[in-house]
Amino acid sequence: MHATIQKPIDEITGYLRPGEKVFVVGCGNCAAKCHSGGAPETEEMAERLKKKGVEVAGWACTDSGVSLCKLAIVKKMLNETYQTETEKADSFLILACGQGIHTVMDATEGGMVHPGCDTIFGGETVTDDFITEYCSLCGECIVEYTGGLCPVTLCAKSLLNGPCGGAKDGKCEVDRTRDCGWQLIYDRLKELGRLEEMDKYQTPKNNSRWSRPRSLTMVESGATFKSLAGELSISRKD
Ligand code: SF4
Ligand code: SF4
Repeated sequence: MHATIQKPIDEITGYLRPGEKVFVVGCGNCAAKCHSGGAPETEEMAERLKKKGVEVAGWACTDSGVSLCKLAIVKKMLNETYQTETEKADSFLILACGQGIHTVMDATEGGMVHPGCDTIFGGETVTDDFITEYCSLCGECIVEYTGGLCPVTLCAKSLLNGPCGGAKDGKCEVDRTRDCGWQLIYDRLKELGRLEEMDKYQTPKNNSRWSRPRSLTMVESGATFKSLAGELSISRKD
């Protein structure tokens, strides 16, 4: 899940040039779950823009549960289903994450796009109205040694070997209202009967795997992951 929040309307209207006709695009998956860009919010945004005097060519949202970052689906939606409206548009306002924004750009062969949301993190949908971050997408997972809890994400200093010594009553020294990530890891390992994992030294991470942009190409027998670390071929057949 990519968590997103809508930008303030005045910031959005500030992006638009006088007379610019905009088509609003929403995402039926993550943005819908965040109530930042599902069908109701996309239609609502079109109306709010009209009230602000913006010319709106129309709006569209992928079906419920369908992500806006699926190029083939977005191409069909914008270039076939809504072709009459999108042809009149000078630009697209995207109520979705940055992946959705780029997908619309590709689908419209370089159309002008405006971000309608801020993409804040990738997280777990704990309940329908609560999403929280457990992974920072670092490209080299070490949670085998931390009971499944990510120190990169849960520790305010992203310490690979913790705790830092500043925790008090299980709370983080950076923010006393938050649990210390390493306290959580300690408690979890204790519960699992694997406290010896705390004694293992974690070597620095290969941050070139965290370099952007990264890509993943799927092939029949596996995949190829590309980053600054080079190309890594993953086989599912060995
Ligand atoms: S170690 Fe990296 S990949 Fe694993 S959960 Fe943490 S951020 Fe995500
Ligand atoms: S108190 Fe805990 S969570 Fe906070 S920085 Fe130190 S080790 Fe990390």
